[in-house]
Amino acid sequence: MSQQPGQLTFVAPRRAKPARHLADLSMADRRAAVTELGEKAFRADQLSRHYFERLTTDVAAMTDLPAASREKLSELLPSLLTPVKELTTDGGTTRKTLWKLFDGALVESVLMRYPDRVTMCVSSQAGCGMNCPFCATGQAGLTRNMSTAEIVEQVVAGARALAAGEVPGGPGRVSNVVFMGMGEPLANYKQVIGAVRRLVEPAPHGLGISARGVTVSTVGLVPAIGKLAEEGLPVTLALSLHAPDDELRDTLVPINTRWKVAEVLDAAWAYAAKTKRRVSIEYALIKDINDHEWRADLLGKLVRNKLVHVNLIPLNPTPGSKWTASRPEDERAFVRRLQFHGVPVTVRDTRGREIDGACGQLAAADV
Ligand code: SAH
Repeated sequence: MSQQPGQLTFVAPRRAKPARHLADLSMADRRAAVTELGEKAFRADQLSRHYFERLTTDVAAMTDLPAASREKLSELLPSLLTPVKELTTDGGTTRKTLWKLFDGALVESVLMRYPDRVTMCVSSQAGCGMNCPFCATGQAGLTRNMSTAEIVEQVVAGARALAAGEVPGGPGRVSNVVFMGMGEPLANYKQVIGAVRRLVEPAPHGLGISARGVTVSTVGLVPAIGKLAEEGLPVTLALSLHAPDDELRDTLVPINTRWKVAEVLDAAWAYAAKTKRRVSIEYALIKDINDHEWRADLLGKLVRNKLVHVNLIPLNPTPGSKWTASRPEDERAFVRRLQFHGVPVTVRDTRGREIDGACGQLAAADV
C-alpha cells in the first residue's frame, strides 16, 4: 500500500499474528506457558538457555529434556523467519538478509562486523508508515508491525552465524543492535520494548547485550520518546532530524507536521537528562536540499551545549529519486560549521551500499 506525499500511517493494518514464541515472553510468562503445556515450570529456564545461550531451536538436540517433553515444548519455538536471500560485501563482514515472515511479509536485517564490534541493524515493522520521501522503506507504506520475537530472531540469527564462525574474523558475538532497518520502532512501541528487554536481559532471560549498545532510531514520535525515557532502559536514542527548520522538515520527515523541530528536540533533551545518554542526531546530507551552510549554523545553534552527537549520513539515493548525496566540499563545510559551534560530529560510513544494505535502502522488494 503506497502513500500520498506527506500521508502518515500510525495504525498497522489488522493482520493475522505470528505464532507465540519464547522470545515474546518474559521469564514469568514463559514459566506460565510451559505449565500450560503440562510441563514443569523450570523447563522454561532450560528452554531459555538453549535459545538465548546456545542459540538453538532444535528440540531434538536438547538432551536435558525428556523426549516426551521436547515435542510439547517445541510449540514455544516456532520458526518465524525464513531466509530468502543473503548478500555479502566487505569480504563477508557486511551481510544483508532478506527474510520472509509467516504471512509472506518481507523484512531485512544487516550484520556489520568491525574490528572492535559487531552491529546488527534490525527491522521493527514490515514497511513503514512514516513516508519520508528519501527513504526506500517509506515509499512502500506499512504492511504490519513485527512481533517481539520476530525482531529478536533477527539478532539471534546474526549471533548464531557469528558463533558458528560463518562471518570472517573468527567466532564472535553481537555487541550492538540498531533499530535502523525497516519501520518506525516507536510506532510499534510495545513489541519493540519487549525486544529491547530480551536483548539486554542477561541469559537465560535474554541475550545479555549491553543497553548502551542498543540504539532506537525514530522520526520523532514525541509522546513515545517520553515513554521510552521512563522504561529504565538506558538505550541510545537516535533522532532522525534531517532539517533544522520546520519548513523543510515538514517535507523531509512528514511527522514534523505533528511535532515540530523545537518539540522533538525538547523531547530528546529530556531523554538525555533522564538517561544520561548522549542523543544521536541523524542528518542525511542531500545535495542542495538540506546541506546549506546556514542550515548547519542553525543546527549548530539548536544543539550546541547539549548531550548530543550529530551523525551525518551521505544520502543513499533510492531508485528513481531525484536526490543525491551532497558534494564533498559541501559536506566538509557542513562539518566545519558544526565544529565551529563545538558540536561533536561524525560522518557515517556507507557500509553495505553495494548490496542495498545501507541506511534507507532496505526495501525488500527485490525477490
Ligand atoms: N524510522 C526510524 C528508523 C529507520 S531509518 C528513523 O527514521 O529513524 C534509519 C536511519 O536511516 C534514519 O536516520 C533515516 O532517516 C535514515 N535514512 C533513511 N533513508 C535514507 C537514505 N536514503 N540515505 C541515508 N539515510 C537514510
